[in-house]
Parts: sequence; C-alpha cells; structure tokens
Amino acid sequence: MIGKYANIIINIAHESVDKTFQYKIPDRLREELKLGQEVIIPFGRGNKSRKGYVIEITDRAEYDVNKLKELTEIVQNSVAIEGQLIELAGWIRETYGATMIQALKTVLPVKDKTKELNERRFCLAVSPAETEEKLEEYRRKKHVAKVRLMEHMFKNPVVKASVVGKELQVSSSTIQALLKEGVITEETSQIYRNPIVDQGEINNQRSPGQSDMEVSEEYTLTNLQQNIVDQVHAVFYNRSKRPFLLHGITGSGKTEVYVELAALAASEGKASIVLIPEIALTKQTVMRFYKRFGSRVSIIHSRLSKGERYDQFERAKKGEIDVMIGPRSALFTPFSNLGYIMIDEEHEQSYKSENVPKYHARETAIQRSVMTGATVLLASATPSVDSYYRALHGQYELLSMQERISKSGLAHAEIVDLRTELKEGNRSIFSRRLHDLIEDRLRKKQQTLLFLNRRGYHGFISCRSCGQAVTCPNCDVTLSLHSRGNASSSGAADRNGIMRCHYCGYEQKQVVECPSCGSQYIGGFRVGTEQVEELVKKTFPGAGVLRMDMDTTRKKHGHEQIVTAFQNQEADILIGTQMIVKGHDFPNVTLVGILAADMSLHAGDFRSSERTFQLLTQAAGRAGRGNVAGEVVIQTYNPGHYSIRLAKEQNYQAFYEEEITFRSIMDYPPAGHVMEIFLSADEEEKAVKEIRHISALLQQFFRQLEQDNRVRLVGPAPASISRLNNRYRQVIYVKSGDQKILGSCRRWLEDMYVMTDEIQLQFDMSI
Ligand code: ADP
Ligand code: ZN
Ligand code: ZN
Repeated sequence: MIGKYANIIINIAHESVDKTFQYKIPDRLREELKLGQEVIIPFGRGNKSRKGYVIEITDRAEYDVNKLKELTEIVQNSVAIEGQLIELAGWIRETYGATMIQALKTVLPVKDKTKELNERRFCLAVSPAETEEKLEEYRRKKHVAKVRLMEHMFKNPVVKASVVGKELQVSSSTIQALLKEGVITEETSQIYRNPIVDQGEINNQRSPGQSDMEVSEEYTLTNLQQNIVDQVHAVFYNRSKRPFLLHGITGSGKTEVYVELAALAASEGKASIVLIPEIALTKQTVMRFYKRFGSRVSIIHSRLSKGERYDQFERAKKGEIDVMIGPRSALFTPFSNLGYIMIDEEHEQSYKSENVPKYHARETAIQRSVMTGATVLLASATPSVDSYYRALHGQYELLSMQERISKSGLAHAEIVDLRTELKEGNRSIFSRRLHDLIEDRLRKKQQTLLFLNRRGYHGFISCRSCGQAVTCPNCDVTLSLHSRGNASSSGAADRNGIMRCHYCGYEQKQVVECPSCGSQYIGGFRVGTEQVEELVKKTFPGAGVLRMDMDTTRKKHGHEQIVTAFQNQEADILIGTQMIVKGHDFPNVTLVGILAADMSLHAGDFRSSERTFQLLTQAAGRAGRGNVAGEVVIQTYNPGHYSIRLAKEQNYQAFYEEEITFRSIMDYPPAGHVMEIFLSADEEEKAVKEIRHISALLQQFFRQLEQDNRVRLVGPAPASISRLNNRYRQVIYVKSGDQKILGSCRRWLEDMYVMTDEIQLQFDMSI
C-alpha cells in the first residue's frame, strides 16, 4: 500500500478509537511505511514527539494539505502486538467490507471506565537471620501483633494487605511502625479479574453427576489422539504449513487433543487460542483446560463486562496466560507469541459475525496465522462443506478420528416416516415407535432427549402427505410464507399469503393443495418447545420433564442449572432446541428423539441441507455417551432426503458428495463465491428504487469486465428479514467463480454509490 498520507491513532485503548490524526508521509518513508506500524509524530502545539500507529494509508487528504505535518520516523523493530492486530483489521476491512474504524473496534479491546482493581501487599525486607532476631526482640517486648505478623511472614514473605488486616488482625499503626523500621516494604499493583475463579465457573467442591468425576481423571491419550497431536505439532515451526482440518466424530476425544497441543505450545513459550461456540462453552470444557493450566487459562464470553474482557486481554498481553478459550471474539486475544489457534465445531454459524465487518472467524484465524506463523487447527464431527472442500483441494490438511473413546460406539439411529403415521391415523407429534421407546426408557430409569429442530425456521409450507415443501423454481430453496400487506414474515393462517424466494424475489400465491400430490394436508409447520412440553406431560404423566430454550435459559445461570439438574438425573426427559445438542455429556441419556427433522431443511437458504445434516448428526451424538448403547429416532416427512438419510447413517463423506454436487450446479459456495449486498432504507419505496439503481450500477461494472460471463446477478429481492428496526431491507446477490472480482466489485460500488443516513449498504462475503 503506497499513499501520500497516513492516518494515525494515538491512544488505542481509548473508547473513541475514531479519533485519528492525519500526517504527511515523507518521500523517504513512502516505500517502507506499512499498516499497523508504530511511528513517531510531532503532536500538538509544541510538536512534542509521540508514538502512534498507522491505521490507514491514503491519497485522500482530510484537512488542508498545507497544514498537515509530516510524520517523523518509523519505530524500528517494534513488535507491538497492536501493530499486528491493526494489520489484521486492515485485512478484515479489505476482505469483508467495512470502515477502518469498524474493523479496528472489532480487533482491539476497548478499555472502559471501570476502575482498575489494585492490590496492596507487604513484603519482608530483611534476611531470614534478621527476621529471627527481630522476632526475638518483639517477643521480649511483648509486641504480640508484630510477632504474629513476622511469624506469618517468615513462612510467607509476601502477604496481601487484606490478609494482614482481616485474618492476622494487625492494625495499621503496627504496620506503619514496621514499615518505618524497614522490616517490611509495601507494594501495590494492578490485579486482573479472573473470570474462571471469580464467577464460580470452577469451585473446589465436586458436584454430583458422573461428568465432573470424569473431568477430574488424568487421561493418557489414545493412540489415535497421540497420532493427531504428533502430526499437528510436527510442523509447529514450519512457516509454510497449511491449516489442519480434523474430522473427528462426536465423542472421539477432540478436546483432549486441544489440551495436549496447547500444553506442548506452552512448554515452548507459546500461547494458544481455543475458539468454542458460546453455547458450547460449558464448565466441563473449561475444567479440562483448568486442570492442566490452572490460572494460566482464561475465558471470555458475552456475560463478562467490558472491563473484565479488557482485563483478560491485558493478562494475555503481559504473558500471564497460556490459553484463552472463548467464542469468536477470543480470536483477537493480543498474544504476541501465538502458537495455536484451534477452532472447535468449526462448522458453527456463530463463527461468522452478524455485524459489520461480517468477518468469519475461521478465515480470519487463518489470516492471523499467516501473519504470525501460528498453526491453525479446525475441528468438527461435521466439518463445514466449505472447509472439507478446501481440505480435499489441498488448501487444508485433512486429519481424521473415526472412533469413539467410549466402548459403546455410535448410537443406533432409525428414521420414522411421519407420512405413514398420518396415513395410519396417528396425528400426535410422537410416532408410535418413539412413544414406545420413551416408555421403555422411563421404565428402565434412563434418560431421553427430545430435540426440536427450529433453527432458521421462518414459515415454510410443506405437505404432510408426501413431505414436499414448496420451493423456488429458480433457486432450489424453500419459499417462505408472508401474509399479505405485512412485510414481516409472520405467516398467514388464512391461506391468503404470498410465498417468496429470498434469493431471486420469485413470488407466488399461497398454495392450498400440494403441487406434487394434490393433498390438502398442506400448511405451515408450527410447534414450539412449550407445546412439546405440554404434550409430553400429558402423554407421559409420571415423567419428570425439563425444557431448555431461549425462554428458560435467559437468567444468568439458567443454562447451567438445567444442564446440572439433568445430569443429576432430576428429570427423565429434557426437551430443547439446538442448545441441547451442543457439547454436553449426559452419560445416562440412551434415547434421542428428533421431533421434526425437516424444519431446518426448509430454512430457505442454500446451506439448509448442510445445517440439517450437522444438527441431526450432533443430536445423534448425544445418545449413548456412557457405557450403554444409545438409540436415535429421527421423525421426518422427508425420509429420502440425503441430509436426513445420511445423518442416520452418520456418513459424512457421502453427504459431502451429494451436497457439493448441488452447490456446483447452483454455483453456491464453496464451488462459487457469493457476495450479498444488503440495502436498507427508511422507506420501502426508497429501498426498492435504490436497489434497482444498485442493480444498474452492477450491470455497468460487469460490462467493464473482460469476460462478463464470470459474474451472475441474482435478485434484487426483499431480504429474508425484510424489515428490521423500522428499516426496509432489500438484497441482491453477486456470484462469481473468482473471489477477487467480487472484491473489486465491492470497492467499485463503495466508490460509485454514495450512502446517506437514510440509505445504507452492507456487504456479506461468502469466500
Ligand atoms: P469430542 O469433543 O470429540 O466429542 P470429547 O473430547 O468430549 O469428545 O471426549 C469424549 C469423552 O471421552 C469425554 O468424556 C472425555 O472425558 C473422554 N476422553 C477423552 N480422551 C480420553 C482418553 N484419552 N482417555 C479416556 N477418556 C477420554
Ligand atoms: Zn404432497
Ligand atoms: Zn429463487
């Protein structure tokens, strides 16, 4: 990047990182100056020398050029971690589209106004021999408080002020006297909150339930685990290594692999970041690391305050921790000695940011590793189609663990066809098979999970006789139902709605009979966890029932409480959404019932088969984690659909083959690249008018391309959430086999189209 001016930020941890200063780049530095570098600048009236970071290099002067000062010099050999993160922010901005400030706010922790916590301590300032002399003297003079303190400090030369006051009951005047005598000294330093200990994530009492006992065991890695560790760690110092993708089935012991690798890195003075989806960040997982790393592991999550998060980042910067565990944002932990970035459940959607910049943690992790030489390990039982594709094409190195640790092996799964149930007169949400199995488990005092697959649910229409959902003729995704005259996707009970495709904008009237078989049993599929709970209680009156969903977990420890209660076998049946399938070990669960496997199949986007396969496989993975083999019942109207059939067989490879064929035919990622352009406006008409203008601009861009057939435009259409915060949203998709073309297309639009407060553009890149 070469330009005339540099935008410089002086105080990085400041709340308003927006405050930047522009300087002229002297000719002699123009070639050398890079994003993220630390520089010296003349600052303020007196032109005092100060240090700052280059966050942008540009040819656009923001002030009167004649008044701009020149920056003085580049700070040589500075290895400030901030520089690296600023460089990463630059990459994020270039790749996903955002302003530099938005990108910076993503990667840099911001200090807020919470007070620093300081700790006062007293240290013994004399030698052991002198201490004994002093002790003698105080005993003789009957200075009992001094004796008490000195006896204590003889064994513990550094004591916290709070201990001296409260436990030893030594008054401040005694302390003053000792300080004056020079027997002790005082020191104060900043301490950082430790969320693992402070928030009761870890306590010393072992709660009942088998899982904690398992956690307290020391494991010897199995041969399979050791093998993976060896292969990954072999290239630790190799800068041209590729990211690893570990395909390890549920229960194959992936967590222990992360722990071991992090320990190896730590023994070589390197730190690790372990990303985990927020809802899977359980006490069980944290415990496994805590056992190995003690206070040298930390976590961040959304329930921590800004100040607490900042503290954790400070500890990382100071080298006080070896491992940081957390969701997406933990990726930006300012370790200057990064060894590993490990991403558990790498297929999870939550790794993609919903806010601008809409970065993907996986791709950003790989970029950070390129900048730092760290090793990236992606892992999942159901790798994303994107990652698997890259592994097969040599961009990632594929590793595999296909055996469970426990003797019980994978659960036995079966599919129940709900169309047959209907035909034979059963209209309950429980098939006869599932009903019988639940009763069997109640008799045996074993536990059951009932999973209601509601992910991405947005009101589709499907046929209960033949299982077909109504799909878009152009895009092969499910149409979603909108009631007339209302832009929100609230569905229509009166059969008077519009069915719409969110890719191409195709619309048709709500159908009243099935386009495939003519049945009138067609309609929306709406059942919630609460209804399921009622039905379970009615059908199995003696059973103890727990429910886990957004409602019941809203309270601070709600989620943890339900998990613990169920682990302690306080209930027979746990009903829940996708939350219950993530990462928990419930050893006494021997039956998993999936009530409506189809729901996520009809989420109306091109990844819905992938999500379905993943959810079903993960749910099935919850059965039989203990020593009794598990059973899984998958209820569906689409028993033939490959994502359901192959999830039952737990056959990832076969699923991948089917899915990649579909993606290739339709040009969806990873076979092609897609850029979504969202436009939002304060009025619906404006949104429609402006998206047409964008569409015309895009056409103009395509005409400039050498081979314009490499780009395709889909839409414009109302976005799947067509109204959000009173803004009307339209979307348009640009597809191309060449990611670079999408990037230049975005920059071109950013230049050509002037955004206002009323009309905003947002980009979402699937690369
Ligand atoms: P995954 O994350 O691959 O689903 P986990 O890491 O949760 O699997 O491991 C599955 C179970 O096996 C856990 O209960 C874990 O404590 C146990 N486990 C893992 N590694 C070992 C080992 N080497 N020896 C004994 N038990 C192990
Ligand atoms: Zn039908
Ligand atoms: Zn369509």
